[in-house]
Amino acid sequence: MPELPEVETVRRTLNQLVAGKRIERVTVRLPRIIQRPSEPEQFAAALEGRTIRTVERRGKFLRIMMEDLVLVSHLRMEGRYGVFTQDEPIESHTHVIFHFDDGTELRYKDVRQFGTMHLFTPEEELVLPPLNKLGIEPLDDGFTLNVFKERLARRTTRIKPLLLNQEYVVGLGNIYVDEALFTAGIHPERTADSLKRPEWARLYEAVRATLARAVEAGGSSIKSYVNGQGEMGMFQHELLVYGRKNEPCSRCGRAIEKLVVGGRGTHICTSCQPLPKQRSGNAAEMKMHDRE
Ligand SMILES: [Zn+2]
Repeated sequence: MPELPEVETVRRTLNQLVAGKRIERVTVRLPRIIQRPSEPEQFAAALEGRTIRTVERRGKFLRIMMEDLVLVSHLRMEGRYGVFTQDEPIESHTHVIFHFDDGTELRYKDVRQFGTMHLFTPEEELVLPPLNKLGIEPLDDGFTLNVFKERLARRTTRIKPLLLNQEYVVGLGNIYVDEALFTAGIHPERTADSLKRPEWARLYEAVRATLARAVEAGGSSIKSYVNGQGEMGMFQHELLVYGRKNEPCSRCGRAIEKLVVGGRGTHICTSCQPLPKQRSGNAAEMKMHDRE
């Protein structure tokens, strides 16, 4: 699933490709993608004649901004956008087509069909699901070490599932949580309330730096991209632990291990991310559950 750096990369490319274009009509080929309004005909009718102003982002959601309307789109597993001319053949799994009045089309393709689109007025957008419960943007100025600690530090939840929960900090998924926890030297099974002050500082810096560097690199090689200008992200070459099971740790040389934490495959270096002794029973149990 694309995370903040990948969605941000799609946002930037999409913004270059569709900002200023006027929607002539919309074809919905798979109604289930459209979550709001309930009828795909209403969705299409509401978008007719609208001009796209900009494409923005909130967490892992794309926000296609028009006058008096916002289209909120989540790519989920494999959703992707592409801009085509209207005479180009329509690829299979293309579910929604935005026909522009300049003869081009924005096409949404999604093999897994998990992606969603919601249409809102600007007043509704942030007070209704799915955007109403989102936490803080980790690359915004408002995301300070104090805010980070305030929101998370008293929780008794394990730190990895907590970082994945979009109600606290948005945009982090399995890849960047593993990377940030490794960079900070924190075991993913630690509970938030067990982290010491210097560990919060390291984790805060690691979250910011990892995401910022990944955005800079265009995200990690992703399945969600915009064709035309859609270069693949390059950050997968810089990943330190994710996807590197059995490879030597870049810091200490010990083999990277893969565990399951909160149901998610998790990459760690057990010497750089030690688990305090009282939790070692859990660690053994955790390894037994590793079937991936
Ligand atoms: Zn190591």
